[in-house]
Amino acid sequence: MVSAVDVPEETSAGAPVEIAVNRESCCGAGQCALAAPAVFTQSEEDGLVLLLDPNPPAELRDAVRRAQSHCPSRSITIR
Ligand code: SF4
Repeated sequence: MVSAVDVPEETSAGAPVEIAVNRESCCGAGQCALAAPAVFTQSEEDGLVLLLDPNPPAELRDAVRRAQSHCPSRSITIR
């Protein structure tokens, strides 16, 4: 299982990050869109996550980590 504390140190230090979402496991809770609305949103059709920016800038990194840690279905991966 990937969690915020599993983010590699070089990622935390400023290397580009790559975000992935799993729409198969997403339950549409919307915590990601609340935590990082520039990176995640929810489909108007099915309510499931849509990834707006798979390579967010460094200033959004903390928000993306919050989104990942708050996701109840563990559907967000940070590489
Ligand atoms: S927080 Fe997780 S379960 Fe909720 S919409 Fe985002 S990816 Fe889906």
